[in-house]
Amino acid sequence: IQTFIKPYLVPEGSEELNRSLQAMAASFAVTDDKISEIIKGLHKSMKTGLDHDDPDALPMIPTYVNGRPTGKETGTFLALDLGGTNLRVCQVTLKGDTTYSLVQQKFTITQEAKESRLWDFIAECVGVFLEEHDLRPAPGKRTIPCGYTFSFPIYQTGIASGNLSMWNKSFTVPNSVGRDVVNLTQSAFQRHHVPVEVVAVLNDTVGTLMTSGYSHPDTQMGIIFGTGTNAAYWENLENIGKWTGPDRKGEMVVNLEWGAFDNATEVLPYTAHDNKLNRKSSNHGLQVFEKMISGLFLGEVARNAILSLVDQRLIFAGRSSEILNKSYTFDTAYMSEIVADASPDLANVKVVLEGTLDIPPTTLIDRKVVQHVCNMIGTRGVRLSAAAMSAVLLARPELLTSTVSVGIDGSMYQFYPNFERNLYSVSRVFLGEDFVDNRLKLHLAKDGSGVGAAIVAMTVDRDRNR
Ligand code: BGC
Ligand code: MG
Repeated sequence: IQTFIKPYLVPEGSEELNRSLQAMAASFAVTDDKISEIIKGLHKSMKTGLDHDDPDALPMIPTYVNGRPTGKETGTFLALDLGGTNLRVCQVTLKGDTTYSLVQQKFTITQEAKESRLWDFIAECVGVFLEEHDLRPAPGKRTIPCGYTFSFPIYQTGIASGNLSMWNKSFTVPNSVGRDVVNLTQSAFQRHHVPVEVVAVLNDTVGTLMTSGYSHPDTQMGIIFGTGTNAAYWENLENIGKWTGPDRKGEMVVNLEWGAFDNATEVLPYTAHDNKLNRKSSNHGLQVFEKMISGLFLGEVARNAILSLVDQRLIFAGRSSEILNKSYTFDTAYMSEIVADASPDLANVKVVLEGTLDIPPTTLIDRKVVQHVCNMIGTRGVRLSAAAMSAVLLARPELLTSTVSVGIDGSMYQFYPNFERNLYSVSRVFLGEDFVDNRLKLHLAKDGSGVGAAIVAMTVDRDRNR
């Protein structure tokens, strides 16, 4: 059985350094057997979550989205996309020929908004957008209908309502957990005299699924590999045991909230660096899978790992910098740059370490070590990402006989070196070479969460005016 661990060695470095690197590589390795175990664990947790709400299982949230897009939808809609990093306000035009266009304005979510005045912040941004684009309600209407993508777990109680189950991605806005996020947003609109009505609220993975489905009708799954990570997929209603709505036939999109996998079990291969990150996070013990995969956290895991080598005086002559000593200063974007550096003297690694992070002059050995560490953690991330995607597709084995499109968005998928290529290659082991090489199509659903909100808002609005 393969327990092959890639030798991340620096031959010109000391024996002690190489021994530490090997131990670290072993701790970050996820073998094929481990992935099989993780897929099994995910299946079990998905099944339980579909059957009933269980704090120890995946949330598996029914989304009230039950009609696939046709690609023929037309119209112009307002969409809000609250992500982990940015708020996007968009005006989306669905052209009815599987294509769309959008005008959007991106607002970086301030620290203050993440910690306290989020709802007012959202209303202010929407107000600015309406003003700058001179938008107002249609003649005879008092409000502009809007689709709202919300990238945090909400237990939906309808297509336009849902209670926040918890914050994550380091958001901590008080007085929100357990409350209806549409109400909270709508009240802020009223306070700020913003004439907008949320007619649909959806998770960003659902938006991604809908956007991809608009252009590729064989889309079965939407995934975000970004600041956070999660997925949504089409499930038969008869498999959703906990669904109590009137229809029992047909399909519905289910939001897995897979970032919560393993919160209550111990299947994942945690290292001391993961445990430290988890302990110091605002959501200790929660979203533990997400903390090994997504952009908000990978850099922090790497920072912990690099500092452990500094503390052993194995790199940087035992010295760190004020910047590197602070949490979350080692951006995952730096990891991408470091991993991508193919120059013989690792010139870009040098720029990041010395220029950006203010570390004292480094040696080539130092830079090679840092590149190895980033590679170990990035590789683990993409292997776990592939495990999760494979698990969802394997849960619907009947799908694997025809072509399957998966819509994906997020900074890891877009910018981490070779992310897509590695997703394909790892998945081949678990989904079969024939399926992956001939029938699996991964598509970037760019700005999918905003466009998807417009698609869902459009269907709601259409049904209302019928
Ligand atoms: C949230 C999900 C979201 C994902 C991707 C996670 O932190 O819990 O709701 O879909 O991030 O943005
Ligand atoms: Mg997003």
